[in-house]
Amino acid sequence: MKPNVIDKIVKNDLCIGCGVCAGVCPQRILKIQDNKYGEYVPYETQVCSSHCGLCLEVCPFNSDENETHMGAKIYGSIEGMKYLSKTGYYLGSYAGYSNDFRQSSASGGMTTWLLTELLKEDIIDYVICPISQKDSEKLFSFEVLSEENSVKAASGSVYYPVEMSEVIRRIQEIPGRYVITGLPCFIKALRLAARKNRKLRERIVFTVGLVCGQMKSKNYTKYIAALAGNNELNKIQNVYYRGKSPDKPATNYYYQFIDEHGSQNKIFWNEGVSETWVNRWFTPNSCNYCDDVFAELADVTFMDAWIPEYSKNSQGTNLVLVRSPKVLDIIQKGIEKAEINISKISVEKVIKSQAGVIEFKRKQLSYRLYLTKQKRLKAPEKRVNASKDIRILKKREIKLKEKMQEESKQLFLRCYQNNTLDIKTFRAGMHPYVKQMRQLRLLGKFALPIQIIKKINKLGERKNK
Ligand SMILES: Cc1cc2nc3c(=O)[nH]c(=O)nc-3n(C[C@H](O)[C@H](O)[C@H](O)COP(=O)(O)OP(=O)(O)OC[C@H]3O[C@@H](n4cnc5c(N)ncnc54)[C@H](O)[C@@H]3O)c2cc1C
Ligand code: SF4
Ligand code: SF4
Repeated sequence: MKPNVIDKIVKNDLCIGCGVCAGVCPQRILKIQDNKYGEYVPYETQVCSSHCGLCLEVCPFNSDENETHMGAKIYGSIEGMKYLSKTGYYLGSYAGYSNDFRQSSASGGMTTWLLTELLKEDIIDYVICPISQKDSEKLFSFEVLSEENSVKAASGSVYYPVEMSEVIRRIQEIPGRYVITGLPCFIKALRLAARKNRKLRERIVFTVGLVCGQMKSKNYTKYIAALAGNNELNKIQNVYYRGKSPDKPATNYYYQFIDEHGSQNKIFWNEGVSETWVNRWFTPNSCNYCDDVFAELADVTFMDAWIPEYSKNSQGTNLVLVRSPKVLDIIQKGIEKAEINISKISVEKVIKSQAGVIEFKRKQLSYRLYLTKQKRLKAPEKRVNASKDIRILKKREIKLKEKMQEESKQLFLRCYQNNTLDIKTFRAGMHPYVKQMRQLRLLGKFALPIQIIKKINKLGERKNK
């Protein structure tokens, strides 16, 4: 009898809640719902009787086939395709923005521009992406859109759980040409599902990826809302995660929360959002085992231009990695029509823009895999091997982040009652970890010059010999 995703993925806390398993389940017995931490996971509405194993075959955290192999099959034979282990396959790399969508979008608005262009040019019939829902318990969900205005309304980054089970079923039921936006693990799940399901294979004609450092739970949004001054968290109807201010660099964006009476609360990245993000509070455990930075299986990947020449501009700029010749062609036409202001950029700069995410998802992943083995816990197959070969201060930082990740989830539950978060108690509980992290970073600042001096001394000794 084959196990299913509940036995193998959910029980090992390796589920990101993409919903693809539930979307393809032939018995329709898998449903997606929140766990107590505000993360989506599947559950069985009745006992699985067929044990077909399809749910496991589409799960990105079960598949033994990595993005490099899958990418080779999808893109490897396309003329002009290049490959780097950090980025996966790519045809071209760009930096720029859309003139129309930049202001209302997360970065440069290139994603919204491409999605609307695909609709306008009759290349697709439907866009599937997350859109705001005005429901405090489900602020966003994946929807099927066919109007340019709705696609524009969906622009912005969603740092909130969204799942694909319903839209996957809808694609199977209603014929058409679909494009779907997704984080790297979601795109991998779609690619795995398309292998098994002819309708998905034929109808999903484009996949649009977003670079991803980590996902966040619903409780993350509640915490940041409380930090921004919202007392009644059940009354929040709308969140915008990427507000831009003309007097601030793109990196210091703000979150905006709107409640049912229309009152608004704002909080900037440097007012406590960055502490929560960088220290990985409220991040699902599955993100600790992710090695795909650039959504390697998507036809095109968009990201923020986190390099000094662009990030100082408050309006936001995209970097883009293209894998599909058709998308390359659409971008070329967009340049000719002067709808987008975009130019080629070296792939090295694209890699540099995500240096922190690459370090976390590759180098530090080796040590996390080593720790997981030590604890005799299950981890998915990855492209890096388990290793403890990393600097001592980094080891301590990785362990401390894992502790904070877990503690933030548990402490939230202890501090949350009647739709209100006791923010003081929560922050006091997290404070010792924050303090330790500050000390570690300070030590790191001193350790680097000492290492350099040691290296110079060694070189000197060798010369003298
Ligand atoms: C959880 C998360 C983590 C990210 N981490 C990084 C990072 O570390 N580094 C980096 O450079 N960029 C990261 N990004 C991508 C970045 O935030 C922007 O989405 C990207 O630069 C595109 O900007 P844009 O202006 O072109 O998008 P927009 O024009 O605003 O369009 C974005 C489109 O993506 C869709 N979308 C938004 N959120 C999601 C989601 N969760 N799942 C599927 N579709 C979605 C929207 O519905 C919209 O259609 C992340 C995004 C998310 C959602
Ligand atoms: S397919 Fe997605 S929702 Fe299903 S178990 Fe795997 S990660 Fe979780
Ligand atoms: S970090 Fe990886 S596993 Fe987590 S949401 Fe992003 S792509 Fe998925």
